[in-house]
Amino acid sequence: MQPSLRIIARPSLDISAVTEFLSEHATEWRRSADATPSEELIEFAGRVCYMSFGGRQSPRSNSEYIYNLTDQGHFSVLEHASWSFILSGVSRSFSHQLVRHRIGFSFSQLSQQYVDQRDIGFVEPFDAERYPDAARLWRRAVESLRTEYQRLQQLLSDDTRMGDMESRKEWARFVRSAARSLLPNATETRIVFTANARALRHFLAVRGATEGDPEMRKVAVLLLRLMQPEAPSLFSEFHIETVSDGSLAVKYRGHSTAE
Ligand SMILES: Cc1cc2nc3c(=O)[nH]c(=O)nc-3n(C[C@H](O)[C@H](O)[C@H](O)COP(=O)(O)OP(=O)(O)OC[C@H]3O[C@@H](n4cnc5c(N)ncnc54)[C@H](O)[C@@H]3O)c2cc1C
Repeated sequence: MQPSLRIIARPSLDISAVTEFLSEHATEWRRSADATPSEELIEFAGRVCYMSFGGRQSPRSNSEYIYNLTDQGHFSVLEHASWSFILSGVSRSFSHQLVRHRIGFSFSQLSQQYVDQRDIGFVEPFDAERYPDAARLWRRAVESLRTEYQRLQQLLSDDTRMGDMESRKEWARFVRSAARSLLPNATETRIVFTANARALRHFLAVRGATEGDPEMRKVAVLLLRLMQPEAPSLFSEFHIETVSDGSLAVKYRGHSTAE
């Protein structure tokens, strides 16, 4: 199973509202023809700080403007642009690392308590073709855990116990919790997350080239491939490189992303 990442929501700038605001202040904005909506949103927000429109606007293009913002460490302006993603085909170990990113991220994740996982898949933590012996042992282990999970869940379907509604509900809650506790870190999960440009840059900078964590690097590569066309100037300091084991990593060549 491989990770799959899709953008489901992205920034859009209401140019008529922006123009209305600018004309109220008797000024105008010379926009760059090639900027994307998120890049324009960030430029507009940045320019409001000094009202650098009209006669106060320098000849800088949108990408030069954004580069100057990050160069000066004016990172908070990057927080206005957010994207939402649906990520699937990743393990619970990966998602546990993802949700450690507290600032500028929001998450909604598949419940293991309320969604039956009898048919759930597992994410291989390594390249099974290169390590067939380890892969065989690993598969045997996760499949046996799934079998025990299925047995516990089956108790709920077969249960004919008597008793009041409350005690039957309590029993079902216990069985679901017990079944869930057997699921390994490799269990596939699905998660919607929303993050702003500053938070995404920070995530890529600290996680993109994590050695010994191919799943993390795969997701970072997918993320960068989606983000570069969305906002080229916000992600221009990142690039994809092949590392020593032949897999890909995201490398960062910029300055600090978070402070
Ligand atoms: C290679 C690697 C190995 C790791 N190993 C472990 C491990 O063994 N165990 C483990 O528990 N975690 C581990 N982590 C997770 C790591 O400690 C962070 O929790 C995770 O990377 C999120 O980073 P962050 O806190 O910078 O991000 P965010 O929570 O998104 O925060 C972004 C930035 O906001 C600022 N910030 C956020 N909260 C505070 C605060 N309370 N006070 C001051 N400033 C704040 C900081 O500048 C921070 O960098 C590892 C991470 C990496 C990259």
